[in-house]
Amino acid sequence: MQCERSVTVLVREGLHARPATQFVKLARMFQSTLEVFREGRSADAKSSVKLMLLAVKEDDDILIRGEGDDAAVAVESLARFVSDPEAGLPATGQDATGQDATAAAHKPRGTATRPATPDEPRRGIAAGEGAAVGEVFPFFPPKLVAEPRVLNSHEIEAERTRFRLAVEATIAALLGSRTTGEPRPQDVQIVDALVEVARDGELSGAADARILAGLDAASAALQAGEDLARRFEAVSDPYIRARAEDVRGVTRNVVLTLLGRKHTGLPELPAGAILVAEEISAWDLAEAPMARIAGILCIKGAATSHVAIMARTHGIPTVLGYGADVAVLRATRRVALDGGTGEVVLDPDDSTVQAFEARIMQQTAARKTLSAYARIEPRTRDGRLIEVAANLGSLSEIEPALRAGAMGVGLFRTELLFMERRCLPSEDEQTAVYAELAKAVAPRPVIVRTLDVGGDKPVAGIDFPDEQNPFLGWRGVRMCLDRPDIFRPQLRALLRASVAGNIKVMVPMIADVGELRAVKALFDECRAELEAEQVPVGAPEIGVMMETPAAALMADEIAAESAFFSIGTNDLTQYVMAADRLNPRLAGLSRPDHPAVLRAVDLICQAANKAGIWVGVCGEAAAREDLIPEFIRLGVTALSMSPSSIARAKKCVIGI
Ligand code: PEP
Ligand code: MG
Repeated sequence: MQCERSVTVLVREGLHARPATQFVKLARMFQSTLEVFREGRSADAKSSVKLMLLAVKEDDDILIRGEGDDAAVAVESLARFVSDPEAGLPATGQDATGQDATAAAHKPRGTATRPATPDEPRRGIAAGEGAAVGEVFPFFPPKLVAEPRVLNSHEIEAERTRFRLAVEATIAALLGSRTTGEPRPQDVQIVDALVEVARDGELSGAADARILAGLDAASAALQAGEDLARRFEAVSDPYIRARAEDVRGVTRNVVLTLLGRKHTGLPELPAGAILVAEEISAWDLAEAPMARIAGILCIKGAATSHVAIMARTHGIPTVLGYGADVAVLRATRRVALDGGTGEVVLDPDDSTVQAFEARIMQQTAARKTLSAYARIEPRTRDGRLIEVAANLGSLSEIEPALRAGAMGVGLFRTELLFMERRCLPSEDEQTAVYAELAKAVAPRPVIVRTLDVGGDKPVAGIDFPDEQNPFLGWRGVRMCLDRPDIFRPQLRALLRASVAGNIKVMVPMIADVGELRAVKALFDECRAELEAEQVPVGAPEIGVMMETPAAALMADEIAAESAFFSIGTNDLTQYVMAADRLNPRLAGLSRPDHPAVLRAVDLICQAANKAGIWVGVCGEAAAREDLIPEFIRLGVTALSMSPSSIARAKKCVIGI
């Protein structure tokens, strides 16, 4: 079957590295061949390098074409992906420092070329907030050169194998760096993007062709890498251009392996040093002791580069694109910089050092003030305790969430577990994930939402029908109740995992109390089965995610049979306002602060209060400082949000 669809790309900043990697991951879940067309050129949708070189930007019109049995679902899923402005970006678009990565990328304050004057500090690109002063740790690894050697024809096959093994070793080392050091979810995504570059046929195919033509592997890799890096640099989009750095980093490591040389890394870096370099790759940082780096100053790089994103994730003050001479930087002993403004002072005098130290103290105090709220149990002035919890989608997010002050997990979206895979996760696999989550957060509660997928979020192994309106279609609890073969293993896994901690189960997309009754009946059957099998089970409560207007209007009936309510304001707003949440043209209607939505919230809260059950909010609106007071006034006692918003929300609660 052939199928195609034209669509306007709404992904913020277009299909640059991380969204491209996610897009390709999604494409690979389908059997069909998939192609993307833009302005008369096309690329294989399953190759992230080819896709990035197509330089698809926000607002571009593209055509997605598929050929194969699952082409219709594949094309539809990819079209939906590119229609989501946040697709492939970290949740809320914020990095772990709470700084908006994209906003920072958009507004580099200062330029790389502004000349220094004796009384005015020189500037580079502000790439990671915060001031720093320290001794320089110079990082200027020797430039890699390989003497080109012509191979004899009998050497060619062995040389191709050597090259393949070097690529595999590079990938293995990259994957290893995901589990060593202090990786954050954002780092893991970046490492995944590097792995994609290493795996992609565009780089290895070009090197292999050179080896086949008789060139030694190291020279072939260097030439192919440089060629590809230049092709990236020729693209006008700054996000795509910044990928040249990734290609060079990966190539460098493949070539070092081929030459049998050690990678000059950063593990020796002393605590409190300012890392100074001509160019740093995301690879270098993935292996570096991030907690020891006080600041980064680099001649190359842009606010959109992976180095910048990693630096922001770890809260490292960073200035990139700093237009100084390499020789000048090599001779520098001390640096003062401000990654929020782009200011840099080389070998600062005493009064400059004092001024920067005062600035650091001020910034630290401001951060401490906010982070002090992370540890509090927030109460309103009249003494009501408000639980401020985290919304999570994977186990790797638990630790940062707890550090950010999460008082539990208010929403664990189980879809990711299903969507990232080529087949459905088994009951045992699910049990292990839910148990690890519950154990890590115990005794605090973890609210696990049962599978909420549908035509808009396809999953390999579930055949979704083509639907005109997937958001109004066969999704969430509707699909689960029709497919007990998928739902039962999840319910059984939740029952089994709840012996490890405080799990609560939440059912999404309830529109009729009958659906809740059916879920509870199935849950009881699963419990009875497990008990008969003598498998230990817990007794998790079952609550309802209130996100349909029908549920809000029937909240009294539903409250009588539910252990708690959690309001999904994202969908509730979409359905109350009849405004597709993915359609930016409807942003004016997609407002959770609209009186119509707040009336629905009020109905839900009144029903919960009458039935004596607690009610929380877990949609994006839970973090809005203008809405928190209104929610609490209506009777909400729990708020769940992305971890970077927790401290601010707690501060807001205690002021009410
Ligand atoms: C919601 O609908 O408000 C919600 C939190 O769930 P999701 O965004 O996953 O649909
Ligand atoms: Mg929802």
